[in-house]
Amino acid sequence: MEPLPQLTTPPPSPPLPPTSTNRHHVILDDPSVQSTWSHRAWVASGCIAIAISLVKCITAAINSCSWLEPIIAGCFGYVLADLGTGVYHWAIDNYGSASTPIFGPHIEAFQSHHETPWKFTWREFAYNIHELARGITFAVLPLNFFSNDPLLHGFIAVFSGFVLFSEQFHYWAHDTKSRLPPFVVALQDAGLLLSRSQHAAHHRPPYNQNYCIVSGMWNGFLSEYKMFETLEMLVFSKLGVQPRSWNEPDNEWKQKETINPLVK
Ligand SMILES: [Zn+2]
Ligand SMILES: [Zn+2]
Repeated sequence: MEPLPQLTTPPPSPPLPPTSTNRHHVILDDPSVQSTWSHRAWVASGCIAIAISLVKCITAAINSCSWLEPIIAGCFGYVLADLGTGVYHWAIDNYGSASTPIFGPHIEAFQSHHETPWKFTWREFAYNIHELARGITFAVLPLNFFSNDPLLHGFIAVFSGFVLFSEQFHYWAHDTKSRLPPFVVALQDAGLLLSRSQHAAHHRPPYNQNYCIVSGMWNGFLSEYKMFETLEMLVFSKLGVQPRSWNEPDNEWKQKETINPLVK
C-alpha cells in the first residue's frame, strides 16, 4: 500500500507590494516617503534653473534665426543624460556610505532601494527627485548668469531636464503597467524612456549592469564592453577600494524581500 502523503503547513506568503487601493494609505502612514515643502522648493528651484536655460537658448535662436545647432545640442543632451545617470548611479551604488559628504543621503537612498525595490513606488514625486533637483540648482543657476551661448543652453536645458526627472523614469520602471499613464507605457515601449524589463536586470545578480535610468540606450554598450568593470578595476588598482558589487550576493543591499514587482 502506498504511504499517505505527509500533511505540512504551507509557508506564509511574502508581503505583497501595495496595490493602487492601499498605496495611498501606506504613503499617509509612512513619513519617510512623503514630500515636504523643502523637497518641493528644491524641485521648483531646479525647474526654474532649467527653464531659464531653455528661455536663453530659445531667445538666442530667435534672434539669430539659427535653430539647427541648438536642436542638435539638445539631442546630445538627451543622449548624454542617459550616460550621465548611469555613471552617477554606478558610483553611488558602489562607493561611499551614508556618512559621505554631500552624496551621503543619496547613497543611503539607493542602497535602501536595493533592499526593498518595490518601496520605491511609495515615494511621493518631490521626495523622489529633490536630491537631483538640488544638484541641478547649484550647477545650472551659475551657468545662467555667466553664459548666453545658445548651444550651451540647448545642451544644458535638455541634459539637466532629463537628469532631474530620471528618478521619475526610474520610478515608472518599477511600477506596474496597469498603473502607468498610457503615454509613459508608449515611451517605454518605444525605448525613449527606461523600460521595466531592462531595469529589472539591474536588480538581479550580479547587480552590476543597467545603471542608466533615462532611456537605457547606453546599457547594452556599457555591459558589452564591460566599461564599469574596467572602471572598477582602475579604482581598485589606484585607490585599493572595492566596489560593493564585487561582494554580491551577500552584501548589505541584497534584496530583503522575495517579491519583485517589476512586471512586464
Ligand atoms: Zn542601483
Ligand atoms: Zn531600481
